[in-house]
Amino acid sequence: METSMNRRNFLKAAVASGAVLVAGGALAGCAPTGGGSAGSSSEGDSVVGTSPVSFTEETDVLILGTGIAGMSAAMDPVEAGHKVMLADKLDRVGGESFIACGVMNVSGSKMQKDAGIPGDPEEKWQAYLPVLEKKGETDDMDYKHNVYVYQTEWADRVAADYGGVFQPLEAYKDTGAPTSMLLPEHGIGDMTTVLTPLQKGLEAKGATYKLNLRATNFIVDKDGTPVGVRFHDEKNDRNVDVKASKIIVATGGFSCNQEMVSTFVPSQARLGPLTVYSMGEGHQMCKALGGSYMHMDMEANLMSDLAQVTVWGYFGPNVQVTPQGKRFIKEDQSHDSPDACHKGGFGYWWTIFDNQLITGSQAWNVELNMKNNADRLVGPCDTLDDLAAAMDVPADALKATFESYDAQVAAGEDKEFGKKLFLQSLAAPYYAMKHFPYRYKTHGGMKITTDSQLTDKDGTPIPNVYCCGSTVADSGSDLSPNAASGLISGKAVVEALKA
Ligand SMILES: Cc1cc2nc3c(=O)[nH]c(=O)nc-3n(C[C@H](O)[C@H](O)[C@H](O)COP(=O)(O)OP(=O)(O)OC[C@H]3O[C@@H](n4cnc5c(N)ncnc54)[C@H](O)[C@@H]3O)c2cc1C
Repeated sequence: METSMNRRNFLKAAVASGAVLVAGGALAGCAPTGGGSAGSSSEGDSVVGTSPVSFTEETDVLILGTGIAGMSAAMDPVEAGHKVMLADKLDRVGGESFIACGVMNVSGSKMQKDAGIPGDPEEKWQAYLPVLEKKGETDDMDYKHNVYVYQTEWADRVAADYGGVFQPLEAYKDTGAPTSMLLPEHGIGDMTTVLTPLQKGLEAKGATYKLNLRATNFIVDKDGTPVGVRFHDEKNDRNVDVKASKIIVATGGFSCNQEMVSTFVPSQARLGPLTVYSMGEGHQMCKALGGSYMHMDMEANLMSDLAQVTVWGYFGPNVQVTPQGKRFIKEDQSHDSPDACHKGGFGYWWTIFDNQLITGSQAWNVELNMKNNADRLVGPCDTLDDLAAAMDVPADALKATFESYDAQVAAGEDKEFGKKLFLQSLAAPYYAMKHFPYRYKTHGGMKITTDSQLTDKDGTPIPNVYCCGSTVADSGSDLSPNAASGLISGKAVVEALKA
């Protein structure tokens, strides 16, 4: 039916439904708008898979994606009384944000101040600015500044106005762990305690969530202005067209899209993706609308497949070794280990730990990982010989590693790798977990204005479309910066709706 519709009838139907056309698309294989019209079209020609636009819903603000960026983008419009709809292709909200480790770098939040931790986001930004300038990767310092300072506003608002629960800083502030890191209620791996209240709070303030709706195309009017989005209803196998005054694209990154990774970040093409959701669909939709990619070849750091174990080093002592039992890295970081493992080509690595981590501030998460990843766990082992045998690493090499590490602990300086946090010896019983490097995020994304409006390659804004989170190039692709980038889009949309 839809494939046999001739062009005149198609346009008639489009006009009847508000003079709109389905523009470009990630999935439907339509031609991008703004493309050349070299040939002539014949009566009866149509693109397979497209059908006339028929709006069944209308909203002020339509947000594609319900991760931390999408939900944060909803905050200001909902609070300003606008009708806000959040749509997600999955049958659950939260995207990758809900399953993230939960480390959020924030300074000067009320929680930190209440715990006696000084810090002013503007001052921290001034200190960070030269680092960014030296790197030379940031195109819009004003946008980056806003992303940086809004992280604090986001944390404060989510805690005070939505009931998001963070781990009390008292749990780790005197242990040597960084107090610039906020964590969810039970610590690492508990993001739902921050994001579920946000989700429910938005709903209570009037936002609606539509699940199983995969955005496939922008819908444009006869002038080419975006006026809505076409979705594929994944449950009922039909199209759903939603009319919207403003559209915010928050569909995450593209780390799971093998073709995009192979094209833009070929050095990571042979690593597995940690999840399956980040397919770059929003990127492709925006591109089809005339948007422009930026920094697509910027390599993101890597992650362990036991993601949460990767961040333990910020909160307690551990020693990390190669399959040959040799220490290869300072442990007070998260992504350098998978990066070094991948670059060094040693396949996997081990995190060795003891009761200090098991009973420390992240006890909830350590226990969870030991239970859920029993097939990756060795221990308890009473001696290093037993541990080496259980790990199948040469005992002499492992003992030499510990001798050298303990000597550096005694000297108070890690001369080998420069570890600063938790430079502490381990004691029996020993445990170890094996992990493998994976890709988990991307940096490349859409070119936008300072207020996050999608632009073409020359920087000309494309009306009504805004982008945030890992869909844009300059968000940082981490939890709190993505949340802040969502706030930027939300604020911009509220301003635009005033006009
Ligand atoms: C295991 C893991 C641990 C991590 N740990 C940390 C951490 O501790 N700290 C940190 O700062 N960062 C961490 N990150 C990175 C961080 O989680 C991401 O940068 C962030 O969650 C991305 O937020 P987002 O809102 O842009 O995307 P997402 O949270 O991925 O949300 C995007 C949403 O869009 C939906 N979507 C996609 N395409 C469509 C479509 N066509 N139509 C409709 N919906 C669509 C998806 O289903 C998803 O729900 C981690 C990532 C992973 C995978």
